[in-house]
Amino acid sequence: MKMEGESTALKKNLIEWRFSQYPKYILLPIDENHDQIRSNIKNVVFSEVTPRPLERNIRLVCVSEDALVNILDMDPEIANREEFAEFIAGRKLPYGALPVAHRYGGHQYGLWVGQLGDGRALILGEYVNKLGERWQIQLKGSGQTPYSRVHDGRAVLRSTLREMIASEACHFLGVPTTRSAGLVVSDEAIVRDVYFTGNPRRERAAVLLRLSPCWFRFGSLEILARNGELAVLRQLADFIIKEHFPDILLTDENRFIRLFSEVAHRTLDLVAKWQGLGFTHGLLNTDNMSILGLTLDYGPFGFVDSYDGGFVANCSDGEGRYSLSKQPDVVVWNIGQLANALKPLLTSSQQVHMSHILKSLDTYSKNKILETFLMKVGLKEERWGDEQLIEKLLDMMQKTGADFSSSFRQLAELEPSEMVSEVKLADKWSLKRLSSHASWGCWLDQYRERLEKEAVDASSVGLFEDERRRRMLSVNPVYVPRNWLMHEAIVDAEKDDFQKVRFLLNVLRRPFDVQPEAEARGFSSQPPQWAYALKISCSS
Ligand code: AMP
Ligand code: MG
Repeated sequence: MKMEGESTALKKNLIEWRFSQYPKYILLPIDENHDQIRSNIKNVVFSEVTPRPLERNIRLVCVSEDALVNILDMDPEIANREEFAEFIAGRKLPYGALPVAHRYGGHQYGLWVGQLGDGRALILGEYVNKLGERWQIQLKGSGQTPYSRVHDGRAVLRSTLREMIASEACHFLGVPTTRSAGLVVSDEAIVRDVYFTGNPRRERAAVLLRLSPCWFRFGSLEILARNGELAVLRQLADFIIKEHFPDILLTDENRFIRLFSEVAHRTLDLVAKWQGLGFTHGLLNTDNMSILGLTLDYGPFGFVDSYDGGFVANCSDGEGRYSLSKQPDVVVWNIGQLANALKPLLTSSQQVHMSHILKSLDTYSKNKILETFLMKVGLKEERWGDEQLIEKLLDMMQKTGADFSSSFRQLAELEPSEMVSEVKLADKWSLKRLSSHASWGCWLDQYRERLEKEAVDASSVGLFEDERRRRMLSVNPVYVPRNWLMHEAIVDAEKDDFQKVRFLLNVLRRPFDVQPEAEARGFSSQPPQWAYALKISCSS
């Protein structure tokens, strides 16, 4: 008899493809009082909801072949079948589906706002793949749920497309993230006031097929603690441990502390990756903080172009609460909210223990970020003066407006003979800009000396230089999903031309490799002037 997930052949149609007969989430309280929007649902973790299929003409915009093949065991050919687009559009549910919306709360911009929940997303079921991994399959934009509040339950093409591209790109950049498997657009019109200026316009509804081992957020626990639903809180915390943190024993009386510590450290490891790529999430509310330490809910995010620590990706974040350089601090603050949510499950001595962990997080985060930047400049271990070397580099980038990703990449590509300040860096547009800073020459001398120190310890200087380049090229991408690249892809996609989207997705599968076709389109060249004026709204 075959066990779940045992069949090895890739599925070519949806009849062969089925959800796990027993999704684990049925062990948690599910509200069966579906479909009605309600503001104060109690004592449940999910609500059962049927998807509202996209109306009118639907078209498949793109898929992630990697997600199809390596997560869903699907032959990419499946995407050519109409039933596949119908599945994403919520018209056809595969065998074994049990659609649920998740109930959670959250702190938005630092304030507790109570119940939020999946207002337009539905977990359809769980799929156990041939590797034995269990993935929750989710539709985003699939209609109203009890958690929709005043909203329509839909998502527009521009925002789902950005999530599709960036989540897949992050995966290949080595950033822990939820995944996207495919995107469908329809002619169903929805109305959005993109910049909240009183100018609503019609856009088209789209649905994104998202994948994650689970979709729990800090806010999943926060709402239960806030409402005093302590039995469900304990049940959910134990469920998360059992299903997602197998190294923690359910019999361990300190298990919630261990859970907290693990989530906190994973989350800060994630933030260090973000900082190292100039990724600015844009909306770090506690309802957007994954309990698994994944990048979650891509909205008004941005990969910084010209480096600026104060870069704010989201044009609705007037105070810059979620600016690039504030992310580490604001995430520690969010982790503090997770601590508050777990507190009711702890004895008083455990609470003291938790506060010690909390106090250690700033230092942990700072060290992780420094470690990340040392790797980016090709250094393995911190030595005296390294922190200042990095700070100075970022300061010069900020002052000259040099490009973040390209400066690091071009630094990686520098030949030793180019590491002298007099050398003209004509083919390295971003370093050229950086080198206009008065301290560039001095910094370069220090950097070269520092590299030589590392090389003296290596068996051969030549070998070391090769290794430095190899290491730096493997952590400093040539391509990141810059806003202007996604913008161009979106403009065409709005006209049903999906070539640019598909091309971009394909390039971003190998972000560390120079690709001639991408070069020809200027993907690693200086962004066009208009790119610097792009504004990304959280309207989606
Ligand atoms: P976000 O800012 O995208 O993280 O969403 C915050 C909350 O608003 C979540 O509870 C979402 O489900 C909800 N939400 C956002 N847009 C919509 C929409 N169009 N329809 C229903 N709920 C929405
Ligand atoms: Mg969200």
